[in-house]
Amino acid sequence: MNTPVQPLPPQPSKKPVAPVQKEDAMLLQKEMINRNYHELAVAHDRGKRICATFVPGNLNELVMCFDFARSLPETNALQSGLRKKSGKFIMDAERDGHSEDVCTYVKTDLGMMLNGDVGPTGEPLPKPDILLLSYTGCFTFMKWFELVRQKYGCEATMLHVPYQGDGRVSKNMRDYVVKQLKETVIPALERVSGVKFDIDRLREYIKESVKAEEHLVHVLQSAKRRPTPIDGYFGAVYYIGPIFTAFRGTPEASQYYGVLRDEIDQRVREGKGPITPEGELTEEKYRLVVEGPPNWTSFRDFWKMFYDEGAVVVASTYSKVGGTYDFGFRHDPDRPLESLAEYCLGCYTNLNFPQRIDMICKYIEDYQADGLLINSIKSCNSFSAGQLLILREVEKRTGKPAAFIESDLVDPRYFSAANIKNRLESYFQMIKAKRVAAQAATAGASTTTH
Ligand code: SF4
Repeated sequence: MNTPVQPLPPQPSKKPVAPVQKEDAMLLQKEMINRNYHELAVAHDRGKRICATFVPGNLNELVMCFDFARSLPETNALQSGLRKKSGKFIMDAERDGHSEDVCTYVKTDLGMMLNGDVGPTGEPLPKPDILLLSYTGCFTFMKWFELVRQKYGCEATMLHVPYQGDGRVSKNMRDYVVKQLKETVIPALERVSGVKFDIDRLREYIKESVKAEEHLVHVLQSAKRRPTPIDGYFGAVYYIGPIFTAFRGTPEASQYYGVLRDEIDQRVREGKGPITPEGELTEEKYRLVVEGPPNWTSFRDFWKMFYDEGAVVVASTYSKVGGTYDFGFRHDPDRPLESLAEYCLGCYTNLNFPQRIDMICKYIEDYQADGLLINSIKSCNSFSAGQLLILREVEKRTGKPAAFIESDLVDPRYFSAANIKNRLESYFQMIKAKRVAAQAATAGASTTTH
């Protein structure tokens, strides 16, 4: 159903802002992402084919074996959101008949097509030659590529990844994915690219992936320290960029994660807190675990609501959507296709609710967090369904307070700064009150035992 189109909220008046502070690795990451957009823009002129594929369950190492340039539609949408371009795209897609309830990444992508296929950096984003749909738990992925295929008339190939309904990966599930890779996906990639598959080339890329994965886990787990040297949500979205997109398996990614790791180790040695856009967070008052993606259109304002209060995110589920490496998974060059299958099966979006709850409870314990915050995304049915259940269960099991806020990914109409700020402030007060009560109880207990 087509729904009325709401006007965009008024843009805040321009006032001078302090230059944003970034770590060297954040700048390097930005440069890599921009370079990939340039490679996409010139791919066809250079005789290269383009493969579009989604972040969770992406088969970047395999796709590189066929010399494809890689386009990740969710990343394209969020990059447009960060650059304040998504609002118009979404409204154009709604005028074109897509409901207000449809995932706003999808509408940003469709709106971008309606506006002449110009990517987030302003360079052309040419039509993909093949859509590789690795289906890992979000039904929207399927409908999204159906629409794109219809629009561009390009080939599509699908990898069906069985959902972890009972919380485990069986041999049959893995074999089923490997069979599809061999019989469907690889032949389609060979046909469209004209390049023959070479499994040794795949092994070499996978060796690089392992190096980057090791470094990334080291960086993310540094947040177990007090103070944490990183923000595991707002900062982590920069860190995961290369490995969750077109760079996993490249020597550049290994190098990037090596630089990042050195940078974070240095912060640890100096006892420093995380870098925020306004400098180092010097006093860590609240340590949080966050579930759900961030809001991209007001990313900096959103982050500010945390660091202004001394709140830091020590772990997040969103920084695992492209791989749950911190629970031990690594790609394996000795079992290249099997490990690609296991990677897809283990994606966060492919985990059932008990698994997600276990993961969050473990984060709260291992990272000594004060509680859980859920940012529920209005138009992401895949992530939002069941979040209240997660919240109650985590509170019950950990005894730590949880809170719920709502926003959207890239639709500026659904970011209510005042509401979110109020909720966060009340939440921080709640954490403080719980802490005082716990200290009083401990003091009372020690008085009665002396
Ligand atoms: S997981 Fe959510 S944000 Fe991603 S494609 Fe599915 S509905 Fe959209």
